[in-house]
Amino acid sequence: MESMTAATILAAFTRRQRRYVVLPDLGGVDWERLDYLGWAHASGHMAYVVYNHERPAVGLVLRRTKLTGAQRPKLCSWCLTTHQGCGVNLFTAQIGDNAARVHGDYVCNDLRCSAYVRGLLRTGVGQMRETITVGERVARLRTNVERFIRSVYGEGAQV
Ligand SMILES: [Zn+2]
Repeated sequence: MESMTAATILAAFTRRQRRYVVLPDLGGVDWERLDYLGWAHASGHMAYVVYNHERPAVGLVLRRTKLTGAQRPKLCSWCLTTHQGCGVNLFTAQIGDNAARVHGDYVCNDLRCSAYVRGLLRTGVGQMRETITVGERVARLRTNVERFIRSVYGEGAQV
């Protein structure tokens, strides 16, 4: 993705969302190997995603719900990486101003889908057998993130 500064990251969020955004440490971020920038709030209950591939940057404020109960291996809906149960959690974003309307996906808990699709990180559990290239995995990840953004901000969102 295009590299970003603290100011451009903050500008990707709406005025209302900015109150909740705690910026990440940008030291050492490898922008060229990122499809989206994702980070969690220290509380663990909130997370943030910024996406700017071939579009103006858009931000997502996400609520992270830890899954409880029996944890079977689970698939990330964005990068399709299989994790041990706790490696995938439910991330939801509020749609518009109504707190009761949310859109959610089960996503890598560490929000490091970009590293998993490039083989830079492994989860230690068996993965789906796939014959597609890293480039195709990257394209699929971006498509899934764009779909999530459209579900939250509407079809008119510039993705
Ligand atoms: Zn993922």
